[in-house]
Amino acid sequence: MPAILLVDDRPENRVALTAILEPLGLELVAVGSGADALRVLLRRDDFAVILLDAQMPQMDGFETAATIKSRDRTKNIPIIFLTAISKDEAHVFRGYEVGAVDYVFKPLNAEILRSKVAVFVELYEKNEQLRHQRELIALQELAAVRREGVERYRQLADAMPQIVWTADAQGRSTYYNHRFVQYTGIRFDLAEDDEWLLVLHPDDVEHVLERRAASVASGTVFEAEYRIRAADGGYRWHLGRALPIHGSDGEVELWIGTATDIDERKRLEELQTFLLDAGVELSRSLDYRQTLAAVARLAVPRIADRCVIHVVEADRTVELGDAAEPEERDRAQQVVAADSPRFATEAICVPLSSRGRGLGAISLAITDSGRSFDSAAFRCATALAHRTAAAIDNARLYAETEQRARAARALQTIADGVVLLDNDGVVVLWNDAAEAITGLARDEVVGRNLSESLPLDDQVSAARVPIDGSRAETLPVEVAGRELWLSVSRVKFDEGTVYAFRDVTQDRRFEQLRSDMIATVSHELRTPLAAIYGAALTLNQRDDGLDAQVRRSLLRVITSESERLAKIVGEVLLANQLDDGRLRVSIESVDAVGVTEEVVEAARAHAPPHVGIELAAAAELPAVAADEQHLRQVLVNLIENAVKYSPDGGRVVVALTRHDRYVQWAVRDEGLGIPPAERQRVFEKFYRLDPNMTRGIGGTGLGLYICRELVDRLDGRIWVEPNGRKGSVFFVRIPTTRLPAERRQPRAGELASTP
Ligand code: ADP
Repeated sequence: MPAILLVDDRPENRVALTAILEPLGLELVAVGSGADALRVLLRRDDFAVILLDAQMPQMDGFETAATIKSRDRTKNIPIIFLTAISKDEAHVFRGYEVGAVDYVFKPLNAEILRSKVAVFVELYEKNEQLRHQRELIALQELAAVRREGVERYRQLADAMPQIVWTADAQGRSTYYNHRFVQYTGIRFDLAEDDEWLLVLHPDDVEHVLERRAASVASGTVFEAEYRIRAADGGYRWHLGRALPIHGSDGEVELWIGTATDIDERKRLEELQTFLLDAGVELSRSLDYRQTLAAVARLAVPRIADRCVIHVVEADRTVELGDAAEPEERDRAQQVVAADSPRFATEAICVPLSSRGRGLGAISLAITDSGRSFDSAAFRCATALAHRTAAAIDNARLYAETEQRARAARALQTIADGVVLLDNDGVVVLWNDAAEAITGLARDEVVGRNLSESLPLDDQVSAARVPIDGSRAETLPVEVAGRELWLSVSRVKFDEGTVYAFRDVTQDRRFEQLRSDMIATVSHELRTPLAAIYGAALTLNQRDDGLDAQVRRSLLRVITSESERLAKIVGEVLLANQLDDGRLRVSIESVDAVGVTEEVVEAARAHAPPHVGIELAAAAELPAVAADEQHLRQVLVNLIENAVKYSPDGGRVVVALTRHDRYVQWAVRDEGLGIPPAERQRVFEKFYRLDPNMTRGIGGTGLGLYICRELVDRLDGRIWVEPNGRKGSVFFVRIPTTRLPAERRQPRAGELASTP
């Protein structure tokens, strides 16, 4: 619908005009000046007519009209002048000159004005119809252009730097642009459907076809990422997009697609996901050989065609991943030594280093995939090296800590005493064994100078114990009034000194005893041997000149000294058997009194005249559970000792008493006696109160040891007590059997006295 512009400086005129023209049912735009009129006309030009007051202040009607007529867009709008001036011809002429089509004089005749305006409105509408018809013709022409459009698109597409293609409504290719031919090196003839699949990466075919089917079915935009093979055989990632073009009927007429190279972005993404996956592998375990081998497997083919990881260990270099080529090995060695990477388009070698220490190198190589390393690959390798080095470092730190913890546990529980001193000689570690050996509690020692509690340091230095732990020395050390023999070794290191020691006091004592024994036994053997030799020599040389008495006494010497020799050898052998556990014991019911009587009788036969031996046995003694041979040996030893150690003579009394579960022997003498401190030790092997035999009483020091061992094996007890003010009493207890022993008939001459 057209509009009418009313221009009058007087409001009452504008109201009057509006009222007159309203019945036409048109849009009326009323303004108060020429300038406002021009402003409205700048915005719109759809006015059927302009009613213009000729007399206005500032810009009058003629001036305004001249401007309207001077503009292309408004020059054709008819102008009707409104004027109060009477029919002045010059005035009217001037109006027509500036393009007025008519004059309306004031006061206005509504009818006339209305009919004049109506004519112009009708004219305007006619013109509009004509214009519409012209537009229809142009639209038809446009449709024709669009049909030709595909060809124009193609011209445009061939000039484009990215891949462009078109396809029909079903998605069948109808055109590939120049760039596609150039990129793939193939000119498809479009004779077959989907030839382009030949250059699509086999792994991408499935999802691309799926996406295409979905877009064709729904008529919506197609979008997918896929790899397209380039003329050189390498694949590059592309982002494919296709838009549907609709025909006039609204149906999809064709698809126009593009493929943009996104290989760089895609490869960056791949490198990043590779790094993430490698990170997961590296944190999977503390066994770095295993995780590094997994990372090397992961790298091929994702970032390279070969991957070798060299790790420098304490005594060698370990190779993980692919087997290294000789030049790869050399390069890795140089990279580790220089701690700087090597980078080429086909090989990368980056050092693994942590906390300033070279741990190895990662070598990556491209061999047959047609790819090449770029700066992104190099950054990726560097990042991988950082993570890998950190993983190795962590694993080693953990192992070290674990090893230290284990070592500390071992030190604490080891059987040797272990003491760790810092460089000031203060005790840092004092293990359980050190406590047990020395009797010094950890709290008393740790944190103090060792010399305060144990004079080990001085002793060790005096004995020149080597500081590299190569040899241990046995030293006497006094601890709280006790003498200990310790076998000590020491190792000096940066943070202090470690002492390891073992208690050899017991061994030392045996060692001492053994040397004493050798001296004693050889002396003991030499004495009878000399006597036998002397007697035999005399007999031989003076065979005829000897009287019978002398002869007999010489032969007696040979016999008795031979017996003595046999006894010594017998004792040594028996002690040896006891030590080895080879002695066989057969327990039976033994008549205690019977065995004792026989032993006493034999002893009396040998005893010197100034020693008397008596037996005092209680009546009705039960049998004992013993090995008769062994019991006899014990009694023989005790009675012989009683006689032997009574050099000044005296009485030896063997008393037998009955007790609840055992029979007790007491062998009492009035001899040399045994000091209280030695009462335990006389039972030790080779122990003699008078090893140098100052009193001329010989012996091996084995007799009482044998007695104690035998009595132990019979579940009995043996001990010694003083015999009043002179001599000793040896007691032996042997368990009784349940059955009473068969008493033997006393032999002639045997005295069974009562206590
Ligand atoms: P030996 O062969 O020296 O007699 P023993 O083992 O029988 O060895 O005795 C060990 C030591 O005990 C002897 O050397 C002696 O000093 C002491 N001894 C043993 N029996 C007596 C005793 N009845 N009176 C005093 N000292 C004794």
